[in-house]
Amino acid sequence: MSKAYSLFEGSFSVDTSKKFIPFDPEKDNPKSRPGSIFVYVHPFLIDSPEGLIVCDTGLGHYGDTGKLMIVEKIEELGFSAADVKYVLMSHLHKDHASGMADVKSGQVTFPNAVYVIQEKEWENTVKDKKDEVLNEIWSLVEDKADIQFVHGDGQINGNIHYNLSGGHTKYHQVFHIYTDDSHYFFGGDVLPEPEQLFVNFVAKYDFDGKLARALRQEYWKEGAPEKWKFLFYHSKNIAIGVSQEKSDGEYILIEAE
Ligand SMILES: [Zn+2]
Repeated sequence: MSKAYSLFEGSFSVDTSKKFIPFDPEKDNPKSRPGSIFVYVHPFLIDSPEGLIVCDTGLGHYGDTGKLMIVEKIEELGFSAADVKYVLMSHLHKDHASGMADVKSGQVTFPNAVYVIQEKEWENTVKDKKDEVLNEIWSLVEDKADIQFVHGDGQINGNIHYNLSGGHTKYHQVFHIYTDDSHYFFGGDVLPEPEQLFVNFVAKYDFDGKLARALRQEYWKEGAPEKWKFLFYHSKNIAIGVSQEKSDGEYILIEAE
């Protein structure tokens, strides 16, 4: 048996300063954050026969215990960050990559994992030296992580497949993870929210928004009949979803079990 879990890091408002400020929809008034967009952040953990797999690593925020929140969430589920075997990185924007290393302790977050990164995404990102915290994360990862740089499409073992998608960033990748009972699909920021499956939407924040839109349509067309379990990194509602066929033959998305 395999199972996927959201490692929900919270909801945030992001304004032109690109800072992620915690936003509680229950308490905070969106009008108090003019010019902001609102995002939810869900890294994922998959407990598979291959071992534990993490899909993207979140904002690198620290929780109440002083540990990285992603580590706290993994421990709350009864697992340990030291047992994670694969860290699959869709791309290296700050809200996905900042949990790769723990800048407070000067260690990588997943010391026994293989970090799977498109090499060109890495090259393109680390040369941008503007963000000090990210610079520190890149050098910790470079020095201390077991990085597996990949190129284009391929597989890590029989069960983890990566595809260079582009769309959101030039070298963004998506992952298919096959287990004995499930086919998980992690579309990163090409497919960040389920709502985008059902509207004709080109995102301004994408490197190539039309490509990202076409890819989303393809993923759903292929994945809905095949019952893929879709992992939505920025979802407000359903984070792990699967299709359900209606009487007219159309598919809707429901929460996966
Ligand atoms: Zn993102």
